[in-house]
Amino acid sequence: MKKSQRKILKRTQFGNPILRIKAKKVSAKFLQTVEFKKLTKQMIYTMRRTHGVGLAAPQVGESLNFAVMQMRPTPTRPNLKMKGPIIIVNPKIIRYSKEKVSEWEGCLSFYGVRGSVLRSKSITVEYNNEKGEKKKEEATGFWARIFQHEIDHLNGIVYVDQMKDMKKLITLQEFKDRILKKKK
Ligand code: ZN
Repeated sequence: MKKSQRKILKRTQFGNPILRIKAKKVSAKFLQTVEFKKLTKQMIYTMRRTHGVGLAAPQVGESLNFAVMQMRPTPTRPNLKMKGPIIIVNPKIIRYSKEKVSEWEGCLSFYGVRGSVLRSKSITVEYNNEKGEKKKEEATGFWARIFQHEIDHLNGIVYVDQMKDMKKLITLQEFKDRILKKKK
């Protein structure tokens, strides 16, 4: 990896208006630019180094309709399977399962907190990859959750908006002390 790609980008934090607007659609032409290639590499690097499983462009200050995702074991989720990384451009969820599940989520734009969010257990999503190829994917479990969380970002929605019970918004320390320990 080139040195220019090994850069931890600054994450926009909750309260920044860029997280509250719909991101601009990305053109096929933009996918060919050095700017896009560099930005996606830096975003994947940033996501890995900060133990994230997804990162949307508005979270690094760019109001553009794409995100990166990668599932792998993290300090608070040691049991996650390896999947990705993938780049999703102009994604759209075309099916949500009626069955929903609650699970704890974090977000690189909400430093030090966790919240429990009810989301569809499975979804069908359409997107373009970084080469502009059309993809259609059925996702389930935590992978489906990452899609829903990241695509919300691209529409100006953050995970706390999806929470039904604000008593389940807690600090990372409380999450580690009470929830993680209980799970073991
Ligand atoms: Zn997030």
